[in-house]
Amino acid sequence: MKCSKCNKDAIIFQKYSGMHLCPEHFTKDFEGRAKKAIRQHRWISSGDKIAVAMSGGKDSSAVLYFLKKVFGQRPDIEIFAITIDEGIKGYRDPQAVEKIAGRYDVKCYITSFYEHFGLTLDEIVEKKGDRKSCSYCGVLRRQILNGFARELGATKIAMGFNLDDEAQSVMMNVLRGDLERLLRRQKPAEGMIPRIRPFIYLPEREVALYANLYVEGFEERGCPYSHNALRADVREMINDYNYRHPSTKYALVNLGEELKEGLEEDSTQLRTCEVCGEPVFGECGTCRILHEITGIKR
Ligand code: SF4
Ligand code: ZN
Repeated sequence: MKCSKCNKDAIIFQKYSGMHLCPEHFTKDFEGRAKKAIRQHRWISSGDKIAVAMSGGKDSSAVLYFLKKVFGQRPDIEIFAITIDEGIKGYRDPQAVEKIAGRYDVKCYITSFYEHFGLTLDEIVEKKGDRKSCSYCGVLRRQILNGFARELGATKIAMGFNLDDEAQSVMMNVLRGDLERLLRRQKPAEGMIPRIRPFIYLPEREVALYANLYVEGFEERGCPYSHNALRADVREMINDYNYRHPSTKYALVNLGEELKEGLEEDSTQLRTCEVCGEPVFGECGTCRILHEITGIKR
């Protein structure tokens, strides 16, 4: 197949646009849409210090590459990487993340569950079984991410979330009946570093292709606990449905955004946890989980 925009060989077919694209035109289209998302949400402005949350996987590595390529020459914008070692043997490798960041001349800051909570995720699973591994992991990681980025002076946290991830999150909140999360808006709040997701409108397979074209050494191994994630089931369900109805993922992401925008005012309340001092919505998930795991009321 030839590229729909020039005469070179195409490397991808976009079902939703009907276009075949060569590497050059795919890159132009991909980066153009990521830049548009940034403009539309006013995600980056002069003076920003952007902490790219890196897992070492394709999405976050691709975000780092993209941000460095587009904003790396701007003297008024700083970009650095942060990574959190959950302590999952054979999976998480902070040194590999550091290496990827180093290739783009980006400084990488590393911290861990052990450093913050005195426990690795493997130890938590040993104590509590692996059924809730992902809910523990997700809550604890989110808290460290925010606090660590804040300590480093970040004004934004860039996440590798793609269209598929975002559609899954909306659906997961529906399936959990979690209205609070479905309606929670990202508004500026004391102590809470705003998150930006430049790839939010880009399908996972396009992010994978972009990463394969430009990023070396990203991690392709899956987490040994990922079978416990509700996300895995939801992913399969949406992919299956999207195959027959190609705009499903966009529809879910738009629904999530419109639900939040439709609110007169934000109904969710941000407060400061009196135990750990972090900004939280409702009950502090981190303190609840640490109590559950250690039996010690903090
Ligand atoms: Fe954590 Fe679950 Fe993701 Fe593994 S799959 S890193 S346990 S959230
Ligand atoms: Zn707390």
